[in-house]
Amino acid sequence: MNINWKQAYRYRLRPNGAQQRRLLQLCGSARYAWNQVLTGRNEEYKEYLEDIESAKCWGEDVSLVPKPRPINRFSFTYDLNKLMAEEENSFLKTQGHSQVLQQKMQDLYSAFSRFFKGKGGYPQFKTKNGYNSIRFPQGINLDEKNKRIFLPKTGFVRYRKSRDIEGDIKNVTVSFFSGEWYVSIQTQKEIEVPEIDLKTMLETEADNALGIDMGAVRFCTFSDGRYEESLKSNELTRLDEKIAIAQRQLKNKKKGSNRRLRLIKRISRLHQKKANIRYDIHQKLSTQICNSHAIVVAEELKIKNMTKSAKGSLLNPGKNVKAKSGLNRSILSEGWGQFFKMLEYKQKKRGHIFLQINPKNTSRTCPKCGHVSKDNRRTQAHFCCTNCGYTANADENAAGNILRAGLARLAQEVNSKRSQHCEPSEAEQ
Ligand SMILES: [Zn+2]
Repeated sequence: MNINWKQAYRYRLRPNGAQQRRLLQLCGSARYAWNQVLTGRNEEYKEYLEDIESAKCWGEDVSLVPKPRPINRFSFTYDLNKLMAEEENSFLKTQGHSQVLQQKMQDLYSAFSRFFKGKGGYPQFKTKNGYNSIRFPQGINLDEKNKRIFLPKTGFVRYRKSRDIEGDIKNVTVSFFSGEWYVSIQTQKEIEVPEIDLKTMLETEADNALGIDMGAVRFCTFSDGRYEESLKSNELTRLDEKIAIAQRQLKNKKKGSNRRLRLIKRISRLHQKKANIRYDIHQKLSTQICNSHAIVVAEELKIKNMTKSAKGSLLNPGKNVKAKSGLNRSILSEGWGQFFKMLEYKQKKRGHIFLQINPKNTSRTCPKCGHVSKDNRRTQAHFCCTNCGYTANADENAAGNILRAGLARLAQEVNSKRSQHCEPSEAEQ
């Protein structure tokens, strides 16, 4: 079976002084457009909520309150055009690049749709010292031999080449954070992957299938009893300590001062270091798992539910942010999402299966008698069934339940396919 395989190649970019200023302008105008359009949307929505409140107050029909504009690609393009037409924003035309700005609006649109689908948090404002990126959909020319890439409005920029790219270039993203420039080249090519025969796979691979339970104490626990703690490595702990110290120092620094700016940059560099270490661990672990298991089951991540309560609504922002324990889980889950993505594409490339199931009750169900109760798990580490007395390590038990739920769903899929195939042949007779 042939599929379109997308892959990104990331390199360090090495722009010269003039090119850096040029790229910073492009980033700045894209960031400005994002923030302005987001502000407009926020105000529109806030107004709508207030109108509803007052309609309720006066006993009017709430359904008559005009709804805010729909979230779709066109409405964001419209917002951008309106923004660019304003005289005070004429710099967007001279300093920005229309394609880059349009791409930014698509990103904002995607951020909103992810939010409404429950797959991400509410879109946030971008800051100068945060993660800044711009995407070029066309006009790129990659000169691999001379280790340079042509970017629109910028010219040929050198990059640190670590490997050749494969496939056709779809788009190029330039990002700037922690004082470093990066270029990420998205490619696409057709590759052949082994076809999945679900029925045969279930027959031969079910015994070797793996369930994964993600956790706060252990990074993950497997249904076969093994677990992975590596994310609590000494190196990461040390970085966490350094970040905590720097955060405390930040309080004593005057706003807008150079020292404060330097400290902010240092903190974001430390975060970047942490992210790189985590990325490497995720890569190694996911490769290990995918090489030895044809069926892998994990939990679905529901980011919306976890962050909604903590971040509050638009009219009522940030209530109890620290008090909500769910936030902790949601911060962890950002890392889990990356890990799951790796598992997904590595399994796909091997013709294997990666499945995510609803984790409801997986930590409180007894595998022996099926009894479901939160009393089954009185402590974090131990599972003890109040009905039949079965005991196990709590994480291992959850991983086992996740695996069983996954296998059950696959078996169901095989059965429903079989009945679909049967019906027409019965009709023929
Ligand atoms: Zn039991």
